[in-house]
Amino acid sequence: MPYKATIESTLRNFQYKYIHRIIATNKYLFKCKLSNSSLSDFCSENIETIEHLFWECKHIQPIWNQLTSFLEQQQLNNAKLCALQLAECRGTCSAEEALILMSVAVRG
Ligand SMILES: [Zn+2]
Repeated sequence: MPYKATIESTLRNFQYKYIHRIIATNKYLFKCKLSNSSLSDFCSENIETIEHLFWECKHIQPIWNQLTSFLEQQQLNNAKLCALQLAECRGTCSAEEALILMSVAVRG
């Protein structure tokens, strides 16, 4: 799968900071005395680390759940499309082509 990075500088800057784990979370800012609290700005219940901010926070979980549902639906749609294509070409395509379509359908 080819890698595609954004050329927009703000997003590129964010991507660089995220990858290198240098996003200024409240945990870090509190340690530097630049924030009044190390707790999450969203839930105020847990220490705001990168993991909490992007993965664990209860306000982030619905976004991940929606993304998971979307990807599962896309996978299902892809498998249905492959099965449909397989049914359409049955009898007209070679055994190799049918095998490729079946493997794509199985993988989703
Ligand atoms: Zn939180």
